[in-house]
Amino acid sequence: MIVILQPDIQKGTAEYQSVYDYLAGLNNIQVRIHEEHGTQQVLTEFYLVGDTSQLSKEEISSLPGVERVVRISEEYRILGRHKDDHRPTSFEYNGVHFGQDTLNIFAGLCAVDNPEHVELMMQALQENGQTCTRMGAYKPRTNPYSFQGHGKDCLPFVFELAGKYGIKVIAMEITHEDHIDEINAALEQTGNPTGIMLQIGTRNTQNFELLKEVGRQRKFPVLLKRGFGITLEESLNAAEYLASEGNTKVIFGLRGMKTNMGDPHRNFVDFAHVPVIKRLTRMPVCIDPSHSVGTRQAGPDGLLDVMHVTAQGVVAGANMILVDFHPVPNKALVDGPQALTMDELPYFIEDVMIAREAYVKRTELAKRFQQS
Ligand code: PEP
Ligand code: MN
Repeated sequence: MIVILQPDIQKGTAEYQSVYDYLAGLNNIQVRIHEEHGTQQVLTEFYLVGDTSQLSKEEISSLPGVERVVRISEEYRILGRHKDDHRPTSFEYNGVHFGQDTLNIFAGLCAVDNPEHVELMMQALQENGQTCTRMGAYKPRTNPYSFQGHGKDCLPFVFELAGKYGIKVIAMEITHEDHIDEINAALEQTGNPTGIMLQIGTRNTQNFELLKEVGRQRKFPVLLKRGFGITLEESLNAAEYLASEGNTKVIFGLRGMKTNMGDPHRNFVDFAHVPVIKRLTRMPVCIDPSHSVGTRQAGPDGLLDVMHVTAQGVVAGANMILVDFHPVPNKALVDGPQALTMDELPYFIEDVMIAREAYVKRTELAKRFQQS
């Protein structure tokens, strides 16, 4: 059960304390305090853990200072979308809005190689009106002899260039909690020119200790990728780990499933789950067409498979696109074969906009149909 306080009731006020004391006095019920930090206000939510079936929703709702009580019957206590649950499905980070009704493109380098390529990428993004990107510094590689990413050494020039070209948010995978400190140190050193979205890759979806550490920090939002060989439910529970530690700014990423049934694509594209995640949870949903498809193959219609699956995800309501680009794909140190080129960026964006328009029209059609 979740007890949501009125927005103006803050810790330290008499109403706050009396609601807390009442709930803490309930038999066999544990109270966990959770704060939702919005742009304007802080919302306090008390999570009641234990046998809440005996509790009266009406009685708790009538306590002074209580705005609403939500009974949770399903899973994913914090991130889940429950009955009569009107909690927000969006958040703001560094001036960029992320929600279940927005769409942000994160085109960028799978792996940072050199300052020249990073600059060409950022410049192309600015020319095309983009303020978000992806930049891999810590790369989890299958082969220990493959390039592992430049790590903390590349962060200062990546952040400075991001600032120069007006990039507000960089999605960056981390594979160890120490990387958060390294990112913080580099941001401080460069004067905080940009923002970071911490990315948990598919190989770490169930690295619970890493999830707990990333969940404990609230500065950076998190993109959690679905595990490529586990069920959707298991991956959604992994997202809940982040929230249960305090960070609810979580975006859930689909990136294809590992099975030869997806051949000749690198992974089996799972974007049919976009609406499922939006129904089960309040998280915005990201799609990664590059790691799903893994090649630059095109259909007989001339459209790249990467663009086709992007459109499929967007037409189904995806909220974020993480996609690999590179100025010279055959020189990329990681995943060059799936990268799109700088001159394909405006083409890609225009194609995304066509799909987005179709999605918006489809939701209007659904509304019209439901009303009639
Ligand atoms: C990536 O986005 O660079 C990446 C390694 O993705 P995934 O974790 O989905 O393989
Ligand atoms: Mn990659």
